[in-house]
Amino acid sequence: MIRIFKHDEPGYQSWLEENPEGFVFNHLGGRDPKYNIIHNASCRHLHRPADEGVRTNVEKICSDNLEELMNKATGLRGPAGWGCCKVCLG
Ligand SMILES: [Zn+2]
Repeated sequence: MIRIFKHDEPGYQSWLEENPEGFVFNHLGGRDPKYNIIHNASCRHLHRPADEGVRTNVEKICSDNLEELMNKATGLRGPAGWGCCKVCLG
């Protein structure tokens, strides 16, 4: 199931705790696919201390199903408009 969090830190944190094996599309927008990346929920890129409290300033689109999330990303941005994290999904 797709869940979208924007300016909702408590909602996003709860989702992460309930879906440690899930996936997160960090949806920054703009033209560059490098800034629109799908990660494992546990990826260090999603848990940088510097982003504490402001993580959902960038829209987080979440799912427990990677294929569903990839389809969502393609629907929003086209097939070339996003990528998978090389650290956690390489
Ligand atoms: Zn990652």
